[in-house]
Amino acid sequence: MRIHHLNCGTDCPLGGGLFDGRSVALTGHLVCHCLLVETDAHGLVLVDTGYGLRDVAHPHRGPHPRITRFMRGMLNIQLREAETAVRQIERLGFRAEDVRHIVLTHLDFDHAGGLEDFPRASVHLLQAEYDAATGPRRSFVARNRYRPSQFDEVRDWRGYGALGEPWFGFGAVRELAGLPPEILLVPLPGHTWGHAGVAIDRGDRWLLHAGDAYFYRGEMRQAQRHCTPGLRGYQTMMEVSREQRLRNQERLRALSVEQAGRVSVLCAHDAVELERCVAGAPL
Ligand SMILES: [Zn+2]
Repeated sequence: MRIHHLNCGTDCPLGGGLFDGRSVALTGHLVCHCLLVETDAHGLVLVDTGYGLRDVAHPHRGPHPRITRFMRGMLNIQLREAETAVRQIERLGFRAEDVRHIVLTHLDFDHAGGLEDFPRASVHLLQAEYDAATGPRRSFVARNRYRPSQFDEVRDWRGYGALGEPWFGFGAVRELAGLPPEILLVPLPGHTWGHAGVAIDRGDRWLLHAGDAYFYRGEMRQAQRHCTPGLRGYQTMMEVSREQRLRNQERLRALSVEQAGRVSVLCAHDAVELERCVAGAPL
């Protein structure tokens, strides 16, 4: 299986290095790290979708905008058609219809925006995430993060329970309908109730897309957690369970240290991790 690392969205929050740990400018640089997997027999598989064509065309239109002005302003979201998954996939020589499956870490607006650009795809996620995003959204954060106008045209949802087989000490859902056994969902709740990582067996090692289970490269691959104040604050604001979020992040950190030779852990929004993946460099 060939894996492409795509940036399907750019956020430039005020605060610069206080968010991304390296910018000297006033604004920082966060990405939406998605994976495009070329499988032998199952077509193209997309892991997360970033922002989509309709987000770029009309982010705030109508009574139910796809992205709220609050989130747009806080993250200083840059919406660029060239960065949408569908345009990048076309540049690679494929068509939108070639994407047969989308596996989601969760349904936040910065991960679900491209779903409707792939009308032929089945969308796989934890059922708890589907329920949280489509049920009553009572809190301010829930109303801002889940934007049903981004996914109300999806026809083929595949929701899974969180019970599963052991995978490096985590529970994992191995049987995703229509997908090869090398692609697993690894429940990692805390950021949202149905948040999950997506693990891909590359033969010699595993790749684990941990979504928003952590946000900053310094939170993995070392015994002590290091995170910028901006991303600490954002994670706290967006969490649904601090206890579950911090426990799962701790388990991921241990995995990234103890299984460094067998598992590569990456998150959705760290630009340095994405650069290293694109360059084929170690994380
Ligand atoms: Zn996110």
